[in-house]
Amino acid sequence: MADFVTHIATSSVLGAAYGAAAYGWYDVPLSTSLLAGGLCGVCGMLPDLDSGSGRPLRESVAFAAAVVPMMLLERLRTFGLAPELLVLVGAGSYLLIRFGLAWFLKHFTVHRGMFHSLPAAGAFFLIAFLLASGQETALRWYKAGGVLLGYLSHLVLDELYSLEWVRGRWKLRRSFGTALKLWGSHAWSNLLSYGVLGLLVVVVFFEPAWMEGVQRRYVEAQAKFWESQRDRLAALENVLTQPHSRSSSQQPESPSKQPESSVSGQTPSRPDAAPSSPSGSPPSARPTGSQPSNPTGSEPPTAQAEEGTRFRLWR
Ligand SMILES: [Zn+2]
Repeated sequence: MADFVTHIATSSVLGAAYGAAAYGWYDVPLSTSLLAGGLCGVCGMLPDLDSGSGRPLRESVAFAAAVVPMMLLERLRTFGLAPELLVLVGAGSYLLIRFGLAWFLKHFTVHRGMFHSLPAAGAFFLIAFLLASGQETALRWYKAGGVLLGYLSHLVLDELYSLEWVRGRWKLRRSFGTALKLWGSHAWSNLLSYGVLGLLVVVVFFEPAWMEGVQRRYVEAQAKFWESQRDRLAALENVLTQPHSRSSSQQPESPSKQPESSVSGQTPSRPDAAPSSPSGSPPSARPTGSQPSNPTGSEPPTAQAEEGTRFRLWR
């Protein structure tokens, strides 16, 4: 049986080649190539989740607990969840994997059981596809391919290590055929493995169309939201520009108008109203009441009157 370091080293070399080939020959984005290569490297230890204890279980579970919520994040964002809910779902899935899955694996799996089998490799391949985010289905399959490659490298290596060279000829160990197998010796675990695989096949078959519908609804909702924001902005701009224009048009008249009305006690709105009121204001101030709407040649008297009224108000 190959040890932990041999498995990780083999899958990491394969992962590096997998990422580099896609980046170099197929113009796959660098981040996607790196992620797929990294997944391949890590998944070299995935089948040993059934080891019951030890490093593979601990490392795989810790890695999955950290990475799965991050992979789910973009997925969940598509459903339009609030940021607080995203944090809660992320924390919940971390706890579920870190403790729930670890407990399940420890108590319900047997080493070299169905985790070391081709249907299990297929199931992890499909789970990786479902977890992988992104618009392009081909790139999601590519990322899931990294998981499958890493997983298969483990199974092949386990089988190779069950061959041994004894006295000039190859001899098979008892473990031969327990890794790259289609079914195990327990009917229930076979049934469960193929049941899970069948369910995943159905989900993967319908998922892209379903997600497309969800994404379309999400984009439409986003468009509606931004449209409403644009309307709000336009309304706000109206509110901001209106008082400005009013005040700029009123500013020249208000200083002369206000004192005039307060001093002479008449409404300054009508220009012809000023000559009809003989009492109260001095002759110099009277034209100011009639002038605001008529700016031609009225500046000096207005300023004078303003000075005079201000002086009187202070007294
Ligand atoms: Zn193994």
